[in-house]
Amino acid sequence: MSDLQNRYQQVCEQIKVAAAHAGRQWQEIELVVISKNHPADLVRELHALGQRNFGENRDQEARPKAEATNDLEGIRWHFVGQLQSNKVKSALTYSNFLHSIDRDSLLKALRRELAEGQQKLGGFIQLNLTEDPGRGGISPTDLLAFAEDAMSLPNFELLGVMGVAALDRDPRIDFDTIATASQALLKVAPEAKFISAGMSHDYREAIEFGATHLRIGTAITGNRNL
Ligand SMILES: *Cc1c(COP(=O)(O)O)cnc(C)c1O
Repeated sequence: MSDLQNRYQQVCEQIKVAAAHAGRQWQEIELVVISKNHPADLVRELHALGQRNFGENRDQEARPKAEATNDLEGIRWHFVGQLQSNKVKSALTYSNFLHSIDRDSLLKALRRELAEGQQKLGGFIQLNLTEDPGRGGISPTDLLAFAEDAMSLPNFELLGVMGVAALDRDPRIDFDTIATASQALLKVAPEAKFISAGMSHDYREAIEFGATHLRIGTAITGNRNL
């Protein structure tokens, strides 16, 4: 068994354990493998092991990688990083999901490009979990108004909320905030029940708090060195 296969299977196993521990079905949890800083061959290897959902955070890197792997059956790309407005058109050529809808100007660019394209996009609103408004993301107090706007995008399905837990404290604090925001969102968007949360170091805790989409890189891919 290769190291990659080993790590992949260990993480898949850990997800099942954490789900059982939280009284959840592991089948309702989607693993998105973040392949940034790794070559297209790694995506191929993981696809051969059954993985279908992959994520990237920079359009310059993601687009060629998505193009180099577009022969792989059932592959789906998740854009998880901050997306510049002038990269929206490009990102929409390969992205099925956008996890990082974080500001009004991005909604504006999406509105324009989605109206022209044929493809459908699923999206998450990224929450700002810090006290610092400069950090980007939507503060929980602005979430419902922002969601109403997002829901009016053409060719778009609002899936839920996304967050990145702070590194300097127990991630459960932030995952709890995300879960509370998710509950509030359901009042205006009953279908937007998904939660994108949890990375290599905190996905088990995220599962406790209802995460449905885990964005896991290094725990599976190994260190980023491209
Ligand atoms: C890189 C990245 C991840 C994965 O991080 P790991 O710590 O390698 O699991 C998850 N989410 C986002 C937004 C990222 O940029």
